Amino acid sequence: MGADGGRWGPMGADGGRWGPMGADGGRWPLLLTHESVLLPGSTMRTSVDSPRNMQLVRSRLLKGTSLRSTIIGVIPNTSDPTSDCDDLPNLHRIGTAALAVQVVGSNWPKPHYTLLVTGLCRFQILQLLKEKPYPVAEVQQLDRLEQFTNGHKSEEELGELSEQFYKYAVQLVEMLDMSVPAVAKLRRLLDNLPREALPDILTSIIRTTNQEKLQILDAVRLEERFKMTIPLLVRQIEGLKLLQKTRKSKQDDDKRVVAIRPNRRITHGSITEDEEEEEDHDDVVMLEKKIRTSSMSEQALKVCLKEIKRLKKMPQSMPEYALTRNYLELMVELPWNKSTKDRLEIRAARIVLDNDHYAMEKLKKRVLEYLAVRQLKNNLKGPILCFVGPPGVGKTSVGRSIAKTLGREFHRIALGGVCDQSDIRGHSSENFHRDFASMKQWRTYVGSMPGRIINGLKTVGVNNPVFLLDEVDKLAKSLQGDPAAALLEVLDPEQNHSFTDHYLNVAFDLSQVLFIATANTTATIPPALLDRMEVIQVPGYTQEEKIEIAHRHLIPKQLELHGLTPQQIQIPQVTTLGIITRYTREAGVRALDRKLGAICRAVAVKVAEGQHKEAKPDRAEVGEGEDCKEHVTEDAKAESISDTADLALPPEMPILIDFHALKDILGPPMYDMEVSERLNQPGVAIGLAWTPLGGEIMFVEASRMDGEGQLTLTGQLGDVMKESAHLAISWLRSNAKRYQLTNASGSFDLLDNTDIHLHFPAGAVTKDGPSAGVTIVTCLASLFSGRLVCSDVAMTGEITLRGLVLPVGGIKDKVLAAHRAGLKRIIIPQRNEKDLEEIAAHVRQELTFVLAGCLDEITKLIYLEHNSADSNQFSGNFNTYFTKDFTTLTKDLI
Ligand code: ADP
Repeated sequence: MGADGGRWGPMGADGGRWGPMGADGGRWPLLLTHESVLLPGSTMRTSVDSPRNMQLVRSRLLKGTSLRSTIIGVIPNTSDPTSDCDDLPNLHRIGTAALAVQVVGSNWPKPHYTLLVTGLCRFQILQLLKEKPYPVAEVQQLDRLEQFTNGHKSEEELGELSEQFYKYAVQLVEMLDMSVPAVAKLRRLLDNLPREALPDILTSIIRTTNQEKLQILDAVRLEERFKMTIPLLVRQIEGLKLLQKTRKSKQDDDKRVVAIRPNRRITHGSITEDEEEEEDHDDVVMLEKKIRTSSMSEQALKVCLKEIKRLKKMPQSMPEYALTRNYLELMVELPWNKSTKDRLEIRAARIVLDNDHYAMEKLKKRVLEYLAVRQLKNNLKGPILCFVGPPGVGKTSVGRSIAKTLGREFHRIALGGVCDQSDIRGHSSENFHRDFASMKQWRTYVGSMPGRIINGLKTVGVNNPVFLLDEVDKLAKSLQGDPAAALLEVLDPEQNHSFTDHYLNVAFDLSQVLFIATANTTATIPPALLDRMEVIQVPGYTQEEKIEIAHRHLIPKQLELHGLTPQQIQIPQVTTLGIITRYTREAGVRALDRKLGAICRAVAVKVAEGQHKEAKPDRAEVGEGEDCKEHVTEDAKAESISDTADLALPPEMPILIDFHALKDILGPPMYDMEVSERLNQPGVAIGLAWTPLGGEIMFVEASRMDGEGQLTLTGQLGDVMKESAHLAISWLRSNAKRYQLTNASGSFDLLDNTDIHLHFPAGAVTKDGPSAGVTIVTCLASLFSGRLVCSDVAMTGEITLRGLVLPVGGIKDKVLAAHRAGLKRIIIPQRNEKDLEEIAAHVRQELTFVLAGCLDEITKLIYLEHNSADSNQFSGNFNTYFTKDFTTLTKDLI
């Protein structure tokens, strides 16, 4: 041990009876506490939320729902609290061995535990054994428990010092109000406890700073500890004297003991519990008053009053105390009878919807009808609206507008990934209601809390909000029950007037809540749930619509968000089109919105920088009078944003975002690769896929190699897609002669000594469904004929073994995707012709549709005129052959 008062090394001879206790060393997990210092003999409550401490609690202290009695080392964390996240801070060497006597967990507002820990004795860290997931150290015990219990051995040795300390301690306690039971108990304890224990215990109950407590913790030698605590006692006594004086002068008859801090307790007797209860009594009375005056249902009131009666009898240290209190506070806060007044005027609603959203006419019309019917019927029974469409097409946004038109509160409940029905219906707190009487003090219940519906109601504070159930198609099932079933109960007008959250355990009326759901696809919405819903499809946008949305809504919103004005930044429509085609590939406008945000951020920086600089004199001097402005504009256009390095334009000149600026801010275009480049060899064709995120073009690639007739498929695909591949190969094999398809050695038996590999690149979304059949046939026909597929054709369609082309779904989204990608001709199944009506006229005009009833019709028009056996020579002349029949075509070409 060094000269630093026993802080680091093992105790030397000067440590006296508190010397090294080698045999008592052990390996303890370490709990790092920020806000407080635990001393031996005292108990403290500490909140735990760092990943390291949480892990420790989970793996060392909890066993199911009960508590393990494991010794942990509590180390005061003297470093910056925020540094606790990653690296282990420098550890304080001395800490207090402790037992956790209670663990209460909560997920609100973020996951954390509250521990009640009792200090046993000092220890020091000999060696850190591991840091992750929580630190574990080899430790050595520094003071011995039996010395506390074996009586007064040290009295003679410490003699005067101990006596002096004792006198001050008695003086202090006697200054307190002896009629308070806790104080009387403390007085008795002073006589009954071994003197050695007193410095630690008194330090933890008098008013001291953490720094002072840390010094006491570090004072391993008892003598030192006595010496250091005496001044603290004296200070407290002086403080009390002063306080009593002022009290007297005010003739204040408040009997409360102010010297003892409220949440410190002594383990050697529950001396402050009574006192705390008294302090807390006021709060409980307040709570009771709130309960009685709240407008909760009769059933709820009955339960609450019963609980409050229990609360009054409950010692505060029980975990149930905090739980019951939280429960009662929630019950008081819930909007049992509080609602906003609906103000629905259909004409106004139309204006709100139109103002907030461009296009989506069908959706807006349907929403208005829905609202009108609701208004006439004056109740909310009936199916729930469910908006189905790709991300970023405005589903959430329309939900928000509906709330706005009705003058209701809006709350979004994200259901993506929810697989536990308790997330909807609450985590049961039944245990603590039922088992209360038989509850042992150590028992704890972790994580009982209300579900998302009740939480949402608490957040909005009214009982008739608009709840947007986002992503109902992403609900999952698990062992914790089926959340869809719970949701059904919530949505069912026959049941939801008495929805019973497991945590609340009493019914809450949800019948005034207006539920709206959103999903990317109906395919994965549980059927029973889908049955309750009225599905409204929200398709993706065309480029023209996106440009309008950007200029009417997104850009003004982003400007406002970044504190910019149209006088500072100008984004021409061609630039927006550039962002749409070269930087995003999506059905909605979410990525577009983000890119616009990035541009605004970059410009905001420039503008802010520019404001600190003076306008460049040479710019101000360009031209004179009227011409000046135009001149500068042209100038600004000519130069990119980066060229004008500091952009110190005169303040009235907006920064123009042209393509150069775009490249500077957003980087090189992400989707610049020409479609034709990818189609410059045989065995590649463009298919159209439908995914929950909208339509997508999909390059299907095939290659062949020597082998034994194996088919390999790669890419994100499902079973149906694999079947399509087999069907396609069978059809081509049976028609090989007719279409002059041969393998590498010129045989019509296509799989003879040949393996085929088919790949469906790009996209993390699994593609499945039969609609790739036509594309696979085309791709393989190209491979075996050695001809290129036209680079402006995209296709979709299911095939049969006999070569018929069957209709498929998602035509509108697929056509939009092909249009986005700049393709000109689209092959669709004949029986899908009616779906073309849904497509905007201007898009239709720019495309040629080929309606195919059988595969023969398709093979006629997919090949290029160029016979590209040597594909590298391909010159890129895209004239296409339109011959009546495939045989003529092949004859011509070969
Ligand atoms: P979703 O819920 O379908 O994923 P959001 O409602 O979150 O999409 O829309 C993303 C963003 O795009 C929002 O800022 C929204 O206001 C905007 N937006 C989408 N469609 C339109 C539209 N037709 N008119 C105006 N803004 C739109």
